[in-house]
Amino acid sequence: MRIKKRLFIGLLVLSLMFITAVLAGSWYLLMNHNSLFNQVLLALGFLTLAVLFLLIALGIFSLVVMLWQGHSRPFLQHLGLMAVNLLFPVALALGRRLGVEAATIKASFIEMNNQLVRLQHLHITPAQILILAPHCLQWSGCPHKITIDVNNCRRCGRCSIDALHALAAKYGVRLAVATGGTLARHFVKQYRPRAVVAIACERDLTSGIQDTQPLPVLGVLNLRPHGPCLNTQVNLSQVEQAIQFFLAGKAATRSPVCSDGLVEVTHGN
Ligand code: SF4
Repeated sequence: MRIKKRLFIGLLVLSLMFITAVLAGSWYLLMNHNSLFNQVLLALGFLTLAVLFLLIALGIFSLVVMLWQGHSRPFLQHLGLMAVNLLFPVALALGRRLGVEAATIKASFIEMNNQLVRLQHLHITPAQILILAPHCLQWSGCPHKITIDVNNCRRCGRCSIDALHALAAKYGVRLAVATGGTLARHFVKQYRPRAVVAIACERDLTSGIQDTQPLPVLGVLNLRPHGPCLNTQVNLSQVEQAIQFFLAGKAATRSPVCSDGLVEVTHGN
């Protein structure tokens, strides 16, 4: 199917016309506020804005209280996440203006999301848990197509995929490796997990968490000793603790994967 660019341009123009109509309408009502009908319209407009503002404020306030008290309340959590999604682009733009890197803001969002997920009392069976790993964890010289089928991995130990296989087998959870957000969403649709342990960079984790809400996702940031998207690594302790949380419904004690939680990998040439 050929997608025409005029669809997007048309929607842009329509959006501009909509904003202009709202501004012009508000201006007209303000200038002609003597008629009762216009006064009612103005009052309705302000009431709508006030309700929206109150809902956003209540959402943010609820999030702060829940994080502070360590208790989750599903309705308030939904409201809070809706407020976060609405304000996220604004917070991101404001943060950039203030000199805070986008990756730092996104990492903070992921941390908040993880904390909110941990407040929920979840008891999930192993088969309903999906470990979603990024393709960049795979050793760049590996010839095996693990995104088509993760079992194509020969378990040679050269990259973290081997250790993730071991974790998946140990707990009986699913493992999938995605090249990007589209394939990750495809796996979520295909496997219909009730909880996801997602490994990725700040950008992909943020969009993935937002796209799959209200599915509980515990995000684990990948480590990039060779720069972005190349032979990345992951702290296995964090992945294991996330699995244990979903299985037990509470934070697990640290388990010894290896001293620092990293898989020792050797990238041969
Ligand atoms: S563990 Fe070995 S076979 Fe498996 S993905 Fe990594 S390099 Fe390839």
